[in-house]
Amino acid sequence: MTDYVLKIFFSIRKGWCFTVNLIFPQRCAGCDVSGSSLCGGCLRKLGEVFIQGEICVDGFTVFFAAEHSELLKKVLHRFKYISDDALAEVLGMLLVMRMKKIIVSAPYTLTPIPLHHARERERGFNQSELLAGVISRALGGRVVHVLERRRETRVQATLSRKERIYNVRGAFGMRKGFVGKVPETVFVLDDVITTGSTFVECARVLRAAGVRRVYGIMLAHGL
Ligand SMILES: [Zn+2]
Repeated sequence: MTDYVLKIFFSIRKGWCFTVNLIFPQRCAGCDVSGSSLCGGCLRKLGEVFIQGEICVDGFTVFFAAEHSELLKKVLHRFKYISDDALAEVLGMLLVMRMKKIIVSAPYTLTPIPLHHARERERGFNQSELLAGVISRALGGRVVHVLERRRETRVQATLSRKERIYNVRGAFGMRKGFVGKVPETVFVLDDVITTGSTFVECARVLRAAGVRRVYGIMLAHGL
């Protein structure tokens, strides 16, 4: 019975997606050509900007998979505001290809930087969570929501470096179930790192809670 209901659900969903695609055809996030959310040409170009980078922010190591590029900026902008599984898959797999050795070097927990629930409700999804899902499906790690956002913050992109630090200070905490019971190694995942103040605030909370090794894993640096 359940299988039958699920089959009906998926065929309705498939039909609905097909209809939506007919009325609003998907356009490439890079060059706007219609047909898919990322065309073959843009996918190739995007692959070229992916590297294996590493920076140190306030004593914490942060790995990132891409440097600034106009194409990636456009694609990420789309990915951030529209929940697009195909884009999440492409970006997540490009990250996995560059970061595989680093991520699987030890047993680890992957934790996406949480959005405030009001912002997540308004947007309907958390882009870092989508990426974390792709990484864990490809590499088999655990995605655990260790952190919670305790208050809403202003959008970091509009603020100076100093303002960004104050904006996120005290904004994160450990989720209830993880107080006094923490994983040994945590990779904090986000789509973009610029000054690193949001990541550092999360890393400090994790370190204070007893996590021995805290790293950042970011899709892109300095967009
Ligand atoms: Zn394109």
